Amino acid sequence: MQAIVKYDRKDGAVEVREIPEPQLTPDQVLIEVKAVGVCGSDIHMWREHQSWQIKLPIVLGHEFCGVVARAGERVSGFTEGERVACETAAEVCGECAYCRSGNYNLCPKRKGFGALIDGAMARFIAVRPQILHRIPANVSFEYAALTEPVCVAYNALVEKTLIKSGDVVVIQGAGAIGIMSLQIAKLRGAGTIAVLGTDIDAHRLVIARQLGATHMLNVQRDDALAFVKSLGDGFGADVVVDCTGVSAAFKQSMAMARPNGTITKIGWGPQPLDASLDPIVAKAVTVQGAFSHTYTTWERVLGLLSTGQIDLKPVIGGVYPLTEWREAFARMQVGDNIKSVISIQ
Ligand SMILES: [Zn+2]
Ligand SMILES: [Zn+2]
Repeated sequence: MQAIVKYDRKDGAVEVREIPEPQLTPDQVLIEVKAVGVCGSDIHMWREHQSWQIKLPIVLGHEFCGVVARAGERVSGFTEGERVACETAAEVCGECAYCRSGNYNLCPKRKGFGALIDGAMARFIAVRPQILHRIPANVSFEYAALTEPVCVAYNALVEKTLIKSGDVVVIQGAGAIGIMSLQIAKLRGAGTIAVLGTDIDAHRLVIARQLGATHMLNVQRDDALAFVKSLGDGFGADVVVDCTGVSAAFKQSMAMARPNGTITKIGWGPQPLDASLDPIVAKAVTVQGAFSHTYTTWERVLGLLSTGQIDLKPVIGGVYPLTEWREAFARMQVGDNIKSVISIQ
């Protein structure tokens, strides 16, 4: 079968390759992949900018859905032809304190698809049934493939952060996770929602407005801190959500958060902070990290896609066949598409 494979530790070392179909174990389900979202992390791997461990060669793709092609003989509950979306935690140990308490996103032995286990940018993938979810009938494969990034935002802004009706929420970053976070903040009842981007985000900031952002700022041109301090009582934001992972954004979030406010950090970045953390102490700010998601997050987010409370239409910039992966990746890299989806026929 054809697959999109990263084969070397070099910039651009990704290509379509012919690889064998996966071997199904008795405890797995074989999925015929229908749609795969392109993630910022796929682009980092294409460009050799990733700061996490990967195996090589690796089939890329961890945001996906499809139909059940075959269930292993020890699997019950899934039958051929069912439409399913699949979580990203390809393997977890099942035995540590985090697995036993349902927090398997934090299992130290977690291995994700498309990084340490072959991913879904291919016709077939074999998965464990514990991470499969049925797709509501009115949700398309293209939308269901994007359940994962919505779950990242849901975990951060519903499960990890308390947002109260009327709160001032600042979202740093207008990429996919920023845009999903904006939609979740709105559902949580946030009052003012400001989305901060850079020159590359001009188009994405227009979509942020369509999806309910009250203010869009370009941090390269606008004084975002002065703007945030001009709101309400002048003390700053109740919640700042860092979807960028760069040190400059965290410095800015410390300045923007109001006393007793919260900074929720979703974005990753390897560089040192290079700033004093004193504002966190002085203002008694809560800093909350958020990583990945678990089973219940997925069920709730699929529900929100089914009811239309999360709108993915403006988010999907294009749907591309597997062989046009380069175009799909490049359009996201330059900011034309918030998300590209690869459709597998
Ligand atoms: Zn991702
Ligand atoms: Zn574990």
